[in-house]
Amino acid sequence: MSETIFTKIINKEIPADILFEDDQVLAFKDINPQAPIHFLVIPKKPIATTNEIAPEDDAVVGYMHRVAAKLCADLGVAEQGFRTVMNCNPDGGQTVYHIHLHVLAGKPLGWPPYQERLKIE
Ligand code: 5GP
Repeated sequence: MSETIFTKIINKEIPADILFEDDQVLAFKDINPQAPIHFLVIPKKPIATTNEIAPEDDAVVGYMHRVAAKLCADLGVAEQGFRTVMNCNPDGGQTVYHIHLHVLAGKPLGWPPYQERLKIE
C-alpha cells in the first residue's frame, strides 16, 4: 500500500491537532470539519479500506470505536449524541486510503446524510 497523508501525520512529518494517541491509534481534528466537532480516529497500522480489514484487525477496529466514544464523552457530547462514519472507496466518498473513523457531533445531524436525486427513466 502506498503511503498516505495520514502516515505523515502518524510520523509527525506534518502537523495535526491531535486529541489522543497511543501505540495503536491516533485521533485528530479533521482539517475540513463538517460539524462543530469533527475528528478522525485512525489505526497506526495502514489499512487501505474497509475491504482490507483482516481478522487480526478486528480488535483495533473495535478499539477505534471505543476511543471515539471516550473522546465524545470527554468533549461532553456523548449523551447528546454523535455519528461515526467510515467511507469506503469512490462511491463511499473515500479520499484518503488509510481507514479512518469520522466522528461528527455538536449539532443535530440529518438523516439521510445526503440528498440523492432519484431519476426515474
Ligand atoms: P474521506 O473522504 O477519505 O472519508 O475523509 C478524509 C478526511 O480527511 C476528510 O474529511 C479530510 O478533510 C481529511 N483530511 C485530508 N487531509 C487532511 C490533513 O492533512 N489533515 C487533517 N487533519 N485532515 C485531513
